[in-house]
Amino acid sequence: MKIYKENLPNPENFIEDIIDGDIKSGKINEVVTRFPPEPNGYLHIGHAKSLCINYGIKQKYNGKFNVRFDDTNPLKEDEEYVESIKRDIAWLGCEWDGLYYASDYFAKMYDCALTLIEKGLAYVCDLTAEEIKQSRGNLIEGGKESPYRNRSIEENLDLFKRMKEGEFADGQKCLRAKIDMSSPNINMRDPVIYRVLHASHQNTGNRWCVYPMYDFAHPIEDAIEGITHSICTLEFEDHRPLYDWVVENCDFPHPLPQQIEFARLNITDTIMSKRFLKRLVDDKVVDGWDDPRMPTLSGLRRRGYPPEAIVDFCKRIGVSKANSEVDQEYLESCVRDYLNAHAKRAMAVTNPIEVIIADAASETLITENHPADPTMGEREMTFSNRIFIDGDDFSINPPPKYHRLQEGGYVRLKGAYIIHCDRVETENGATKLFCSIVPNSKSGNDTSGLKVKGVIQWVDANNCVKIKLKKLQSLLVPGDGDFIDRLNPDSLIEVDALGEKLLENAECGERFQFMRIGYFAADNTSTRELPVYNEIVPLKDSFNKKK
Ligand code: ATP
Ligand code: MG
Repeated sequence: MKIYKENLPNPENFIEDIIDGDIKSGKINEVVTRFPPEPNGYLHIGHAKSLCINYGIKQKYNGKFNVRFDDTNPLKEDEEYVESIKRDIAWLGCEWDGLYYASDYFAKMYDCALTLIEKGLAYVCDLTAEEIKQSRGNLIEGGKESPYRNRSIEENLDLFKRMKEGEFADGQKCLRAKIDMSSPNINMRDPVIYRVLHASHQNTGNRWCVYPMYDFAHPIEDAIEGITHSICTLEFEDHRPLYDWVVENCDFPHPLPQQIEFARLNITDTIMSKRFLKRLVDDKVVDGWDDPRMPTLSGLRRRGYPPEAIVDFCKRIGVSKANSEVDQEYLESCVRDYLNAHAKRAMAVTNPIEVIIADAASETLITENHPADPTMGEREMTFSNRIFIDGDDFSINPPPKYHRLQEGGYVRLKGAYIIHCDRVETENGATKLFCSIVPNSKSGNDTSGLKVKGVIQWVDANNCVKIKLKKLQSLLVPGDGDFIDRLNPDSLIEVDALGEKLLENAECGERFQFMRIGYFAADNTSTRELPVYNEIVPLKDSFNKKK
């Protein structure tokens, strides 16, 4: 299902219904949520959805919101990712009450494992990973009990301690929860909860050589922090019985955390998994995690996406239990709505055509920065007898009802005058227009009585700057198959343009609407000699057109 504005899910969401019930019944006094990224890559727009849900609940219920790095796997994690994740969360405006690392709880997790062993609810198993997989059964058949399942509590305590002390090689032994090998839910068939892994961890160094498995660690992390509602994506629905089993049997104080699943965000022609995004970075298909074509938050930021528009998008798509794919153009239309209201207007022309206006005097004109918002102020633009207009705004053979410039026609230069095109000359393939000003037609003070439909942009040839525009499209073209076969060869097209003087020194990230071309943001590769602008979104709203 594609989500369009008219069939958005009800914004009153089912998670809030559960929370309302828990408050009403007295089960909880304060709502505590968390966002638990694994620091094995940069955050993407899917994570923004999870952040907005969790942080939104904190705000709505005046509760608490934690960020917790789920760093229990020593093999894939990196400090660079931790720093980028913190930066991206702050950029979206989600302020955390507590910032934690799951690895800080390793000692507590080890104690929980001892508790389970002492209760006869966990055992050390000598089967290999492959043997465990083989004996787990399937959806039709139950699993087979491990020959080590009935070891005594003493033996299990002794073996588990020796696992921790480094006596065994990777994979030689593991700790399994003793639940039910005939459970219809395969996750409950004595899942592995601790493994031996002689690997150094970026936070705890070489202190541990046993590491907890995700399904065991995550509920404990939540319970330690007093999380009331542990919100995760739908793939974990079948893991919920194990989640509940862990928190119940490890003797945590009530109220116990409650896992709630929602549908992850998918966007058309967009790769969202960190594993794939990492491959694009490692294979140098893109210019790093913050390449403006990437769906990462750092890429979207560099591209010029305002965080407010991302939050607005997440609110508008709502929360649901049904998996769906949101049209990429819907995200763009949220960005466009924001930029239309907030981006300064500026003039830039591509395929410039030289225009000579013999009767024009050099002067400084005052132009508004935004047509509807006077609080955004005004700026100065110089005008002279030699200007450039955009190649798209002139036609030698105009179609009927053409409102831009043609030989013998009129057009308004935005913020300046109405001009008449007297003559066209073509020399060595270059078109040059000779025009004259319509008397008394100055913008804001037009008494010429002439009505013209076309308004076009221009830059003063004597006072403009060369700029580079990066026109950006989706990294993938539509289709199925491996993403690497679906790379869009046109995802980045560089276009030379001429811009008004103010574009020379824009601050990195500053956003503009280049009238008629699109919304652009100053890129961090800009130099004084060559300012570079990323296309945030095109002007045209193909999303609303489709409706
Ligand atoms: P990926 O599959 O992209 O690598 P992940 O789920 O492994 O993502 P985590 O760092 O474990 O990434 O995720 C942190 C939180 O963000 C989790 O609660 C996860 O459910 C949520 N999340 C990840 N991807 C999405 C998505 N596409 N839509 C909504 N929430 C997401
Ligand atoms: Mg993950």
